[in-house]
Amino acid sequence: MERKKLVFATNNQHKLRELRQIAGDRWEILSLADIGCHEDIPETASTLQGNAEIKARYVKEHYGYDCFADDTGLLVDALNGEPGVYSARYAGPAHDSEANMKLLLRNMVGVADRSAHFSTVIALCLGSDIHFFEGRVDGHIEQTPRGEEGFGYDPVFTPEGSALTFAQMDSDAKNAVSHRGRAVKKLMDYLLS
Ligand code: IMP
Repeated sequence: MERKKLVFATNNQHKLRELRQIAGDRWEILSLADIGCHEDIPETASTLQGNAEIKARYVKEHYGYDCFADDTGLLVDALNGEPGVYSARYAGPAHDSEANMKLLLRNMVGVADRSAHFSTVIALCLGSDIHFFEGRVDGHIEQTPRGEEGFGYDPVFTPEGSALTFAQMDSDAKNAVSHRGRAVKKLMDYLLS
């Protein structure tokens, strides 16, 4: 049986690998590069849902593919939900994960309440409809980075109930509890229902 094509509006290889692992063999997940989309889709909304919707609609309108897009933020309680929707560019427009993590740790020096959560919103443009799926994982921010796996803020985030940071888990263990894993599970349940 031919697999149905669905674009994941990203070129982030970590995310694509995570997603393809979860999607199994029912869907062929294409990246932006796979469909020849090389432009920078502007993320101008002030919410995760708004940015996910912009990206998914852009691909549907300009390239005609059914598409889903995600937007993720790390929300730290003691920083009033920062970096939130600005997580990718917390330390500036360079989208530098190391610099973002350093700035986060600097802003949390002496802060006792380390609680935080990741939130992912997925927007799915399927035919003429749009659907949203959310996933969240609660946890805390470490004092120093640990681990080599994953990406972004993974070395400083430990999910509830775990002794390991996301960067110390293999991708199966991370996917099982992560914000994106949970949002993608809802997406897949919908697509396969
Ligand atoms: P995006 O919206 O998925 O591109 O994510 C925004 C920012 O959150 C980026 O700086 C990522 O590094 C960070 N981020 C997204 N997902 C994760 C994750 O699973 N672990 C750690 N950081 C993440």
